[in-house]
This record gives sequence, C-alpha cells and structure tokens, in this order.
Amino acid sequence: MTPSRFTYHAPGNLVNALRLVAESGDEAKVLAGGQSLIPLMKLRFASFPTIIDLSGVKELHYISVEGGSLRLGAMTTTGEVEKSGAIPDTLGALKDAVSHIADPLVRNMGTVGGNVCHADPGNDLPAVMIALSAMFVLKRERGERRVAARDFFIDSFTTAIKSGELLTEILIPLPEGNTGSSYLKQKRRAGDYSIAGVASSLTLDAKGKIAHAAVALTSLGPKVIVAAETEKFLLGKKPEISVAEEAGSVAAGEAQPSDDFYGTAEFKLNVLRRLMQESIILSAKRASAGVG
Ligand SMILES: Cc1cc2nc3c(=O)[nH]c(=O)nc-3n(C[C@H](O)[C@H](O)[C@H](O)COP(=O)(O)OP(=O)(O)OC[C@H]3O[C@@H](n4cnc5c(N)ncnc54)[C@H](O)[C@@H]3O)c2cc1C
Repeated sequence: MTPSRFTYHAPGNLVNALRLVAESGDEAKVLAGGQSLIPLMKLRFASFPTIIDLSGVKELHYISVEGGSLRLGAMTTTGEVEKSGAIPDTLGALKDAVSHIADPLVRNMGTVGGNVCHADPGNDLPAVMIALSAMFVLKRERGERRVAARDFFIDSFTTAIKSGELLTEILIPLPEGNTGSSYLKQKRRAGDYSIAGVASSLTLDAKGKIAHAAVALTSLGPKVIVAAETEKFLLGKKPEISVAEEAGSVAAGEAQPSDDFYGTAEFKLNVLRRLMQESIILSAKRASAGVG
C-alpha cells in the first residue's frame, strides 16, 4: 500500500528543522529512520499532512563522552551505537540492548531518538534509558528543557514531547563507584520484538548491599514499566540468588502483560521472573567487578 498524500520537508540544519516543527504544529510528523513510522503510514494506520525528514540534520548525528555523560545525538542509529568504540564499558545495559534490536537492516536505519520517541512498549531502549537514568533534551525554536527518561513515557506511543518540540539529544550519566547494569530480552526468533525484557542497574555499597536500584520492563504492559516496587524491594539487600528470585516475583506483581501473538500473559510473567533473576545477578556481578 502507499501512504496518504503529504507535504515533505527536508531541512538541512537544526534551526530550519525547529522552525518547521514550530510552524507546522500538530499537523506535522517528524521522520527519523522511518522504521516504525513508514510502515504505519504505508498501511494507513496513520496519516499526516506534513512530514519533516531529519535525515539531513547532521548536527543530530554524533556519539561523544563529555562532562561525565555519554551524549547521543537523536539521529544516531542503533547500528552506529552497536559498532561504536566510544560507548563506555560501564554502560552494560546499553551495550547489551543495541545488538539485539531487530536485525542489522533495521539497526542501520533506526535511530536512538526514534526508538524512544515512538514509545512502543516493545521497543528496547525505553527500559534501558530508564535503568541508566538518561535525560532527554527537548528543543523548541526558543529554548529547551530536559526530561528524565523515567518521566518521559506517558502511555502507549505517547511521550512527554509537546507540540513544537524535537528530541535532540540523549544524555546518559557515566556510572560511578560499584555500579553495574544489564538488559536481557527473550525473543521467539532472531530479529523479533521481545516476549519480555528487563533492564536493571545496581549500585553496591562497601558491604556489597544494594544502595541504588533502577529497574524497567519491556513488552509487559501498555507502556514501558518502571518497576518501582522491585527497586524498593532490592534496596539494602545483598544481590543473592534468593533475593534475585524474589525480585522476579515482585516485578511480576507490577507487570501488566496481555495474551497475544508472543504468548499468554502467564507465560510472559514466567519469562519475566527468569529474566529478572538473571539481570539482577548479572548487574551485581558487573558492579562488583567494576565493569558496569
Ligand atoms: C522488523 C522490525 C523489527 C523491529 N524490532 C525491534 C526490536 O526488537 N526492538 C526495538 O527496540 N525496536 C524494534 N524495531 C523498531 C525500530 O527500532 C525503529 O527503528 C524505532 O522504533 C523507530 O526509530 P526510527 O528512527 O526508525 O523512527 P521513525 O520510524 O522515523 O519515527 C518513530 C516515531 O518517533 C518520532 N520521532 C523520531 N525522531 C524524533 C525526534 N528526534 N524528536 C521527536 N520525535 C521523533 C517520529 O515522529 C515517529 O512518531 C523494529 C522495527 C522493524 C521494522
């Protein structure tokens, strides 16, 4: 099928992109890698009078480490993150996730900005960004604001981005001390979206107890789930197998899976329990070894 008719803009820089976004308001949709948006438009699940293609905005395309953070321009592809030598080893969850997003063809086109802005509950980067305490930089023609990943995902396919704003950058603070993170997902076949996914980040204190925990779940509800009860449960405990197992049960109480093509809700909760256990143990191991 072909999409409905639309006016196409291809700004060559950020100033022009922000001007077009401001002028077009809710009429316009931004196009990044097109891996989610174009199928929606071609199948006519969605149509937009105006498309603003960001592929020519080179200022949004970079990976750097600066001021204690990893900085990802919104138009950086997930394939570039996967292959980049600049991603610090201490960001284990990000490294785990990027090589398991779809397949190389999708990763060569799909961007980190598009992955989070699409806010598909099955997308992997929302949970990873929450676990890694990322900040999203949202710019408009005059001014910018920052929104924590934890507060960004409002509902299925709905984020905190307001009319006239663009996501321009993702800032991921480099962990200090004994911090480790991981992202684990279970798929039916290579290249599939997950049946369930778990991102966790743990900081251990001098006695090996969990001093900070951030945990988020993929494909287990209408949007990415911040597993706040699981985080509270983990605090002050040693990350032993029994604790990791119980964390899986607490997380199962927070998940809201439904039956679908990928399995029954009950099956997904079983997958979640196992992934949570493995993710907690792996994050703790990385934290103890100081490898993130
Ligand atoms: C076969 C297939 C399998 C896939 N499997 C997975 C998977 O396993 N895991 C996974 O995480 N993803 C998966 N995806 C999705 C893929 O990662 C997409 O690339 C991603 O969801 C969207 O990124 P994009 O750059 O293509 O964005 P687009 O499709 O261009 O845009 C997506 C949405 O984000 C908005 N947007 C994009 N950039 C910005 C910006 N800078 N500011 C404001 N709004 C913006 C657009 O307006 C649109 O609403 C899969 C896709 C396909 C086709």
